[in-house]
Amino acid sequence: MIPPGSTIGIIGGGQLGRMLCQAASQLGYKVNVYAPDPDPPAASVASLYVCADYGNTDALAAFAADCDVVTYEFENLPVDPLETLGDQLQPTTASLAIAQDRAHEKRFIEEQGGKVAGWHIIDSADDLDAAAEQLGYPLVIKSRRLGYDGKGQAWVREHAQLMDAWEAIDREPAIAEAAVDFLAEFSILVARKANDEMKVWNAPRNIHDGGILRRSEVPAGHPVDQQVDEAVAIACKLASEMGHVGVMAVEFFATENGPLINEIAPRVHNSGHWTIEGALTSQFEQHVRCICDLPLGDTGLVAPHVTMDNLIGSEVESWERLLGEEDAHLHLYGKREARPGRKMGHVTRLG
Ligand code: AMP
Repeated sequence: MIPPGSTIGIIGGGQLGRMLCQAASQLGYKVNVYAPDPDPPAASVASLYVCADYGNTDALAAFAADCDVVTYEFENLPVDPLETLGDQLQPTTASLAIAQDRAHEKRFIEEQGGKVAGWHIIDSADDLDAAAEQLGYPLVIKSRRLGYDGKGQAWVREHAQLMDAWEAIDREPAIAEAAVDFLAEFSILVARKANDEMKVWNAPRNIHDGGILRRSEVPAGHPVDQQVDEAVAIACKLASEMGHVGVMAVEFFATENGPLINEIAPRVHNSGHWTIEGALTSQFEQHVRCICDLPLGDTGLVAPHVTMDNLIGSEVESWERLLGEEDAHLHLYGKREARPGRKMGHVTRLG
């Protein structure tokens, strides 16, 4: 067990890292953050900020030497340099290696009995034709690595667009995926300890626009509620088989034929932000409890209805109005520039 008073290291300095810092410090931990950016959201709430590249093994080793346990807050990290941290890194690189490559991820999910949309590897122009033959149209080309918030994706509605779509993602190694005619999107957040003890939260219904999460809502209602048991069973199996220690999110499409897995995020997740005020234990605190081997907290709801809305780009300018709203819990990430599509904060409402 790593008791309160110890030091947690976080690799990555975004808003997820910032909220992890806040939860960890509430439990009496010291938190150090490591990221390559000059002034990331987590730096201002950390005890120590180390600004260095993710591939810098010397800087990583020096960072880890000051920490009792190290974790990460996003998955697009080079695995090899992090291997040097061994079991000091929780979750280990095993979770990263699966989740950061869409082809590995889908193979792994299928091996464990999970269902995904039809897909095909794209390494060459010939693969594009074979994929279209197998999947039909529309289909979406997604880069295997480094995609987030709908980036690295291009939709194809007819044969003439196939090559352009792959060009649009710079002919990166990719997958083609069949379009899913979903009824709703939802996610299952699993917290797992090394002894295989697990807890899940109520499944939020997630509404996306242009590939970016807009809103999460709990309870999710029909038809998600009818698919949650099956989704929880596979999400927990994936967490167990990955040997994942910490919180992870599994994103699902609810379809006429049951739940299909979209992707795995091996970390705390935007669709779990509602848990800060809406659940007895937040995803951030639970992640700390998992990686420090503390008893897990209750994940029950504190209100019958919870919504979380992201503040994207200039929407953050409404902060003053939101502060005036009773029962609105405002979170601002301290980012200086409100670029279009950038997540600047979120607001949670309990009802
Ligand atoms: P992703 O980055 O893969 O999670 O995709 C972001 C969002 O794009 C998803 O949450 C869906 O709203 C949409 N999307 C991605 N893949 C598909 C698909 N195969 N069929 C339908 N919608 C999709």
